[in-house]
Amino acid sequence: MQRKTSQRDAIQEVFIQENRPLGIEDILTYGRAIVATLNQATVYRTLKVLMENGWLTQINHPSLGTLYERTGKEHHHHFYCHVCKRVYELPGCPLAKGDIAPKGFIVEHHEVFLSGTCPSCC
Ligand SMILES: [Zn+2]
Ligand SMILES: [Zn+2]
Repeated sequence: MQRKTSQRDAIQEVFIQENRPLGIEDILTYGRAIVATLNQATVYRTLKVLMENGWLTQINHPSLGTLYERTGKEHHHHFYCHVCKRVYELPGCPLAKGDIAPKGFIVEHHEVFLSGTCPSCC
């Protein structure tokens, strides 16, 4: 019981520390630095529980697949740095104002994924 709690704590700790969307491999790597015995099955089970609790949400990234991030953030977009392989959250949305579709189309939703080189890798 004690052990189960600490694995879940470790996963939450990883998200709080990194404060960016993470894939399963990242979660395993960073999580094992906290709890060495962390295994993939436990991580998947814990992610499911954290999503049911509304603590985490899932992103379907077009090139990276499934990523997980904390809920409760304002609408934002993601930037993937292909050098350090990190996904950053970009605050705000440049598409929020202005006409992005021709007249007659009512835009209710959009998904934009940016990629390139981040400031640390330039
Ligand atoms: Zn980078
Ligand atoms: Zn947006």
